[in-house]
Amino acid sequence: MQMIEYETFSPEETFAIGERFGQQAKPGQVLALTGDLGVGKTLFTQGLAKGLGIDGPVSSPTFTIVQVYENGRLPFYHFDVYRIADPEEMDEIGFDDYVYGEGICLIEWAELIEDILPENCIRITIEKNLEKGFDYRTIRVSGMEE
Ligand code: ADP
Ligand code: MG
Repeated sequence: MQMIEYETFSPEETFAIGERFGQQAKPGQVLALTGDLGVGKTLFTQGLAKGLGIDGPVSSPTFTIVQVYENGRLPFYHFDVYRIADPEEMDEIGFDDYVYGEGICLIEWAELIEDILPENCIRITIEKNLEKGFDYRTIRVSGMEE
């Protein structure tokens, strides 16, 4: 499978990459985001939201699992499943309806619900490399259709 790799050296660059994904997002896309705490998942998401034309603040949906934004080019469903104890909690919020719908889904900490992710989702992993600097990140993307 094709893998695209980006290197970023600042929060702004990561935001800008997210923004490009938002501008190019197609209905039904599911982005599964992986990476340690503080690596930039939410920042990437904020860029993506901007690229979708969503204005207003986007922060991690800490208490709700999913935050819905409907004022952009496409509906945007932002999940943060960090606190999920059991993937069945996702059934309860109607996860499948979001994921197999026509909006854009982005899931932070997607590895925690690996078993219920759709097969064709776009995988995005963000990683630090302190040898290359405090603000350095590698962003790896796979599963994009051409
Ligand atoms: P996560 O959602 O993965 O826990 P956040 O997006 O909330 O992470 O926070 C990332 C933090 O890392 C922010 O404080 C941001 O300013 C900082 N940061 C530094 N360099 C980068 C970079 N290149 N890309 C993304 N974030 C960066
Ligand atoms: Mg986050």
